[in-house]
Amino acid sequence: MSRLDDLRGPVPARAHDARAIAALAANPGCARRSLLDAAGVDKDAAARHVGFPAPFGQSQFAITRGNVFESLVKENGCAELLRLLRELMGLPIAQVGYQDVENVGAHLRASHTRALIDRAARESEDSAVFYDHPLLSLRIAGQTSYLEPDVVAFQLGGRFHVVEIKSFSVIDGQAEPEKVAAAARQAAVYVLALRALMEELGHDPERVSHDVVLVCPENFANRPVASLVDVRRQLAVLRRQLARMTRVDRLLEDLPEGLTFSLEPDADGVPTRSAGELAEALRRVPARYAPDCLAACDMCMFCRDEARGCGSTDLLGRQVRDQLGGVSGMDEALGLAEGTREPEEGQEEIARLLRLADRLRRECVA
Ligand code: SF4
Repeated sequence: MSRLDDLRGPVPARAHDARAIAALAANPGCARRSLLDAAGVDKDAAARHVGFPAPFGQSQFAITRGNVFESLVKENGCAELLRLLRELMGLPIAQVGYQDVENVGAHLRASHTRALIDRAARESEDSAVFYDHPLLSLRIAGQTSYLEPDVVAFQLGGRFHVVEIKSFSVIDGQAEPEKVAAAARQAAVYVLALRALMEELGHDPERVSHDVVLVCPENFANRPVASLVDVRRQLAVLRRQLARMTRVDRLLEDLPEGLTFSLEPDADGVPTRSAGELAEALRRVPARYAPDCLAACDMCMFCRDEARGCGSTDLLGRQVRDQLGGVSGMDEALGLAEGTREPEEGQEEIARLLRLADRLRRECVA
């Protein structure tokens, strides 16, 4: 049993999805999140057990609506999707091939996806194929994560495009910018994974287009509408952040002996471990809380409470924290600003700036 299995305990590992990878890349310096994700710990369940459930998650109604919309777009071998793509991209073809990778069984999906993508990349440039439920993989901080997009990739003119189906509405040609941005970040993860696969198979990764096709319902009805979203910026951010991520093997070296985040359930499905014990184990791995965590990580309420408890400057956001350099506590920052605390070696410059800021604030207030 590996150290990561010990950390998770005797429960099935939770797979990463594209949303989780996009969020992981948003806070690459957080050791707590890196370890929990690498070990496949169910962060949502852990946060609930310690009494700090995350304030997000889709309602059952939204999940059902999303499933119904996706089935509509994909029914009859993606006939509706073909109509949309003909309009959006001027597809000159009458029909396309359709391959549902899910039909081959879970254990073969990854190898079947590889074989299909390889064949499509070698075949005639004028063929077009939809791949439903492909299984892709991506190396994250030294670990392989499997992505199970329910999106479809297709090839036309030698290019592959990722299609992202979302159930948020486009009203009068406009969708909520945050939702489009989240969909773009998620689609960028699929593009990255598909490019990695192309490279592995000896094909040009740039044949996977940075233009993803976003399909949403239009004007509160279930009629789908498609648009192209350029994810080049999201790809650049993702690549940079993933490269910077602390390697998990290095984090494992520093862990206390016997540490585990196990959520092993009893006969009623309730974790056998007390909430206090689990919280204590979580606190033994350093976190890097920032307000952005509130939109991205299941552990956010727990980490925010912890940061508040110790008066951490992390609460002020990444930009302020980085500007404060090595000053990690609010008391310390206030003491340096008010001159009641002597700067330690290396803190002279930040102390001077804090005193200046404090003087300017007092002048403004006066
Ligand atoms: S919420 Fe906590 S565990 Fe999650 S990324 Fe932020 S600091 Fe790390």
